[in-house]
Amino acid sequence: MVALKAEYGVRSAVRWHVVPDLDGAALCRRLLSPIAEMRPIADMTQDGIEPGQLCQPCLAAYEDGVTTVDAWSETVAETD
Ligand SMILES: [Zn+2]
Repeated sequence: MVALKAEYGVRSAVRWHVVPDLDGAALCRRLLSPIAEMRPIADMTQDGIEPGQLCQPCLAAYEDGVTTVDAWSETVAETD
């Protein structure tokens, strides 16, 4: 199940990552806190989350149809 997961930065800024595995890394390979806030993936395309708060590598991977970290790694390797 793909979902969005929050990463909290300084000054309470939030960045939302796409996580294909709720206990694993985001598509950009960043490891997020297991207790970070989650949102449904649909919030990414609806009005839920501002575009500036989305992780761009995660967004690009997801729009390419990548929904697993392994597939994303292969995509990166291919473009090398
Ligand atoms: Zn990300």
